[in-house]
Amino acid sequence: VKQDGRNSYAFYTESLTQESVAKLKLQSALHDALELNAFHLEYQPKISFRTGDVVGFEALLRWVDPVLGSISPDIFIPLAEKIGLIQDIGRWVLKRACEQGQRWRKQGVSFGRIAVNVAGQQIQRSSFVDEVAEILKQTGLPASSLELEVTESCMMSNPELVSQDLAKLGQMGIELSIDDFGTGYSSLSYLKKLPLHKLKIDQSFVAGLPFDTHNTAIAKAIIAMGHALNLQVVAEGVETQAQADFLKDNHCDHAQGYFYSKPKLVEELTAFLIADDRV
Ligand code: C2E
Ligand code: CA
Ligand code: CA
Ligand code: CA
Repeated sequence: VKQDGRNSYAFYTESLTQESVAKLKLQSALHDALELNAFHLEYQPKISFRTGDVVGFEALLRWVDPVLGSISPDIFIPLAEKIGLIQDIGRWVLKRACEQGQRWRKQGVSFGRIAVNVAGQQIQRSSFVDEVAEILKQTGLPASSLELEVTESCMMSNPELVSQDLAKLGQMGIELSIDDFGTGYSSLSYLKKLPLHKLKIDQSFVAGLPFDTHNTAIAKAIIAMGHALNLQVVAEGVETQAQADFLKDNHCDHAQGYFYSKPKLVEELTAFLIADDRV
């Protein structure tokens, strides 16, 4: 709402629908969230189909506003991108996740890699590589314990710059995953050019397994293509034994989903990790 003169203010206020009032409340709450300490992370394990071991964790951001309550990242991440907050929030997530990884290392807990979601706007910034290097230095986490998950669409606006930066991150020892693979309408040519390590089959394709003929074909095709390109293939949103069996039989490498574990708070996980010698 613009407040340049009483009349225009009144005009805008009157024309606001309830929905846009709710949106504005959400926006202003999001502006305050970092300062209010209203964010925290949860971690969801990734499991090797071959060995059953935990090979890593994905950090997932949670926002609990003191007034509005818990809000889904599917709502507030796109909003943060829209109103220019994603840089600060993204840096906070990366720092927190790296700190946690380092804490686990100091506790002698082996956790594989910590995967952090990176928004397109973050990676398109020329300072992104330096920011990542700086956070690794500050926290002491080795690059070999970090993985970044990026979506297909984040390469599209400036593919040259993004692929150069991804190459630098890869050279540092960070692994790179393409998230939500198959939903981005992008050309496949970049897959060959980029220093990628993993493809994550989007959960919308996993959902129909093993009965939906469409999704079984897509899942098999993604696994075959990933392996042909020397990439590991991760299935997300695995919820049932039948889905897990299908994916394992079709040589998918890693699984993530409620069938194994929901995303959890560190306090819940640390006990589990220390108790579990296989990890
Ligand atoms: P995503 O990166 O594709 O993350 C996977 C989402 O699927 C997570 O939702 C996770 O909780 C959920 N999930 C995991 N296993 C299952 C399952 O078996 N069944 C079902 N139905 N869902 C499952 P979440 O945590 O609500 O996050 C939603 C999206 O928000 C993420 O999708 C990601 O795109 C975004 N997001 C979350 N945290 C961050 C962050 O720190 N930075 C950025 N840029 N985006 C984030
Ligand atoms: Ca992800
Ligand atoms: Ca995903
Ligand atoms: Ca998703």
